[in-house]
Amino acid sequence: MEVVKAEFLKSSSTVKQCPKADRPEYAFIGRSNVGKSSLINKLCNRKAMAKTSSTPGKTQLINHFTINSDQWYLVDLPGYGYAKVSKKLRSGFSKIILDYIGNRENMMCLFVLIDSRIPMQKVDLEFMNLMVENGIPISIVFTKTDKLNKGQYTENMKAYEKGLLEHWEELPPIFYSSAVNGEGTNEILSFIEDINSKW
Ligand code: GDP
Repeated sequence: MEVVKAEFLKSSSTVKQCPKADRPEYAFIGRSNVGKSSLINKLCNRKAMAKTSSTPGKTQLINHFTINSDQWYLVDLPGYGYAKVSKKLRSGFSKIILDYIGNRENMMCLFVLIDSRIPMQKVDLEFMNLMVENGIPISIVFTKTDKLNKGQYTENMKAYEKGLLEHWEELPPIFYSSAVNGEGTNEILSFIEDINSKW
């Protein structure tokens, strides 16, 4: 699938304000600076649809984009794991994220973005565990793969996957992406297309 049309639809501060759940949607989440906006822009063939490097901790909003003339929604979720939020909320995951995750029945897959250069972080594991425990379908997207050489990349990915298997019996779907050279975009879009075909 190619994204031929991608438009910003609306920002919501509660799940109630989100657009009607009448088509499949796919949400993207990760810690600040993981490369979420860059990946969304790459997937949508747009230079600046999602805003890059937004200030951590500022107003948290659920951003809906409508793709290919209303076929599906792409959702840009607020980042998680800010120190400021962690102190206030025991889990470290803001209410808006948990509200969205727990109440959006058309959310077909949550893409959790992880920087491929960084070893497993507690907050990412905690977040993914919470999703798995609650039956939320997740995929992992390792970002910024262009920043590593082949050797480092293979080593990092193997270590990460091994680490996950210490907690889980099986791995979720995993994608490797670069917003610089476009690695992974076709795979992610094909995955979405496949799920859409069963909607
Ligand atoms: P966000 O905060 O998760 O939305 O992250 P951004 O998309 O704003 O990216 C954070 C920084 O990483 C920016 O300086 C981007 O240019 C850079 N970046 C994002 N994705 C990639 C990538 O795939 N490769 C490289 N080399 N840099 C990236």
